[in-house]
Amino acid sequence: MMRFVLLGCPGVGKGTQASLLAKKLNIPKISTGDILRSAIEQKNPLGEKAKVYIHEGKLVPDDIVIEIIKERLKGKDCQRGFILDGFPRTTVQAEALTHITSVDIVFYLRVEKNELIKRLEGRRTCVQCAQMYHMEFNPPKKEGKCDDCGGKLIQRKDDERKTILHRFEQYDILTKPLLKHYQDQKLITEIDGLGGVSQIFQRILEFIKNDYL
Ligand code: AMP
Repeated sequence: MMRFVLLGCPGVGKGTQASLLAKKLNIPKISTGDILRSAIEQKNPLGEKAKVYIHEGKLVPDDIVIEIIKERLKGKDCQRGFILDGFPRTTVQAEALTHITSVDIVFYLRVEKNELIKRLEGRRTCVQCAQMYHMEFNPPKKEGKCDDCGGKLIQRKDDERKTILHRFEQYDILTKPLLKHYQDQKLITEIDGLGGVSQIFQRILEFIKNDYL
């Protein structure tokens, strides 16, 4: 089975790599961040609850995201596997995940922090389809417009500097312990996250090629 988790600091490129891998393997990318943002846009009850946390760079409470994942993984499209992007983010979430499904590989994308701040501040997201760009490293063909759907590109509120620093703090306290959790289970594969998007993707493919390609 292709049940993959992508772990790493905010801005490390998890979302981008998860999308590429999902396309390549024809399995869904499941991003709690995307699901929550789309709930906020639709102004539904989940969105109303999540909004305050996300805009302040805080983690949404565990029970909310665990429920989202539990429901989403029941989807028919998850039968061959899935890629979790941005979940789990706390040990409570990781524990809950073990009761929902097994995991085959946890990719840990690793990049130094200063580099990450630069990346996050330059990041732009499509309001319509959530595709990500970077003003310097991965610019859209037409400034301010999504290549895929023509949607408007914006800087997410949680990509502003003050919020970024808060997200890092939260990552260190809450998410970093997951590395040990998955190391103990011998599920971690470390990927050097420095370099171009396709270069990093090649590193991931190199790792899975014998088993999954
Ligand atoms: P992301 O797009 O993965 O960076 O997520 C954006 C924001 O959504 C995070 O800063 C959190 O506020 C929230 N979020 C996404 N996934 C989770 C999660 N697994 N647990 C708690 N909060 C989450």
